[in-house]
Formats: sequence, structure tokens, C-alpha cells
Amino acid sequence: MRVLIVEDDPVLADGLTRSLRQADYAVDCVHDGGEADHVLATQSYDLVILDLGLPKLDGFEVLRRLRRRGSKVPVLMLTARDSLQDRVRGLDLGADDYLAKPFDLPELEARVRALVRRGQSGGSAALTHGALTLDVAGRRATLNGDPLDLSARELGVLEVLMMRSGRVVGKEQLAEQLYGWDEEVGANAIEVYVHRLRRKLEPVGVSIRTIRGLGYLLEKESNG
Ligand code: CA
Repeated sequence: MRVLIVEDDPVLADGLTRSLRQADYAVDCVHDGGEADHVLATQSYDLVILDLGLPKLDGFEVLRRLRRRGSKVPVLMLTARDSLQDRVRGLDLGADDYLAKPFDLPELEARVRALVRRGQSGGSAALTHGALTLDVAGRRATLNGDPLDLSARELGVLEVLMMRSGRVVGKEQLAEQLYGWDEEVGANAIEVYVHRLRRKLEPVGVSIRTIRGLGYLLEKESNG
């Protein structure tokens, strides 16, 4: 799950980044509207947390350009307290939710979970693949209702593969979804996660195929 934070207050930006990383999101952070506009035009995210008062380009303009490009990425805007006008304007421009400053991090995390859930699975809380179910917001996977013991990274890999099941997912694509820019990705890290995931899923009839030179493909075996 990849989140972009757009916030010019360094202390708040840092707090948000840390708290979302702790919750296992891959987080990138930019500090002005121009940079945000550029990054959003060239990279894909599962959620954007957007401050409205920003240098260079304000949050409204970033949002307007984002929606004009046809992007449906969920946007949570951060507004000043008592700024009803800003909220209305932001929602009219296509923001999905707002949070008034100052806010508590647990509340932000709850809003983020709700938006990610809405964005990723079209309103339902779970991705399914045969007998396999992944609760996006709850961060857990089950097989026929029995919990699967997966690490956060393994769950992340599985989530990306399930979202694109039946299609080949490249290693770089997986790395992009799992890590922020400034997190180091070991060359073999993705292979290791896929390997571990495969070992846990194969006994229950779910297999991840390696497509040489291209990436991975989630396949359900026909006996399932
Ligand atoms: Ca600001």
C-alpha cells in the first residue's frame, strides 16, 4: 500500500510518515505543491494525504490537476480548524475526506484505513482469491476462514498479487508498492518474500508462478 504525504510543516510531515510506516504503509513525502503535482503525474499511489496550504501550488490546485488527469486515487485533505469553506471547496474538487488540524494520529490512521479500503476493493473490506481472503484494512489473510500466519511484508506482496490476480506483476512493481523512496530494497528482498509466501500457500492449493524475466502471477490450482 503506497501513500503520498503532501505537507509543508516538517514536524507534522515527519510524524505522519513515521506513524504510517509503523502501520506498514510504503510512504513518500513531499513538501510543496509543485513537487506533489509532479510526483502525482508520474507515480501511482493508493492514497494521498494532502495539506491545503502549501508553497508553490496550493492543495486545491494540486487536487484539481490530479482529478483533471482522471486519477481516482483517494485523497484525504488536511484543513485548518473552522474552515468550512475550504472543506466544501476541497470536497467539490474531488477530495474523499478531510481531517481538521490539529488531529490525533489514531484518528488519521482510522481515516486512512477506511479510504484505502474503499479505494482498493470498491467498497468491500476484502480481496478474495478462491478460498483465500485478505482483509485489506485489518491486515490479515485467511484461508477458508482459518488465519494464515504471514509477516507484514508477505501480506503486502500477497495483497498486490491478489489485486492483480491473473496478471503478471513485475518485481519492480512489487517493490514500488511495498517501499517508499528512501527505504532500501535489497536486491533479493522481493524474491525472498515471494519464496516464503509460496511455501505457506502451496500446501493449501494457491500457487504463485514465476514468469521468467517478467515477474509473478497468482494462480489458483484447479483442484481447489
Ligand atoms: Ca501547510
